[in-house]
Amino acid sequence: MVCYTCGGDTAVLNSRPQKRSNQVWRRRQCVLCDTVYTTTESIDYAKSLLVQTTTKKRLLPFSRDRLLLSLYKSLGHRPTALSDAGGLCATIIAKLAPTAENNVINTRRIAETALVALNRFDKLAAQHYQAFHKL
Ligand SMILES: [Zn+2]
Repeated sequence: MVCYTCGGDTAVLNSRPQKRSNQVWRRRQCVLCDTVYTTTESIDYAKSLLVQTTTKKRLLPFSRDRLLLSLYKSLGHRPTALSDAGGLCATIIAKLAPTAENNVINTRRIAETALVALNRFDKLAAQHYQAFHKL
């Protein structure tokens, strides 16, 4: 990775695996200008998983943003909706990804997994989600 201010090479000062989010956090420093910055390495699900729609049987790249947005809408009554949606999104993806067959998951499984997680977290949000996702 090159420095974002001068384009010079960088050295890793510190590296920590984040088991819960399945990411690697790194603190880097530019060898030319000494700028220090942080990087996060994580799985690119949009390039790793495909979603099969139940109605038209089309294959689309998995969208974390789409899942996050649907959770956020269902959690809208909570002042912590955005951070709650982010945490639930990571939990749901961690449960979904291992169930993919040949890197494909279907929309029904996504909705079912999201509903189970929402039911444990916030019943009102689960009801809202269910109203917009037919199972
Ligand atoms: Zn630099």
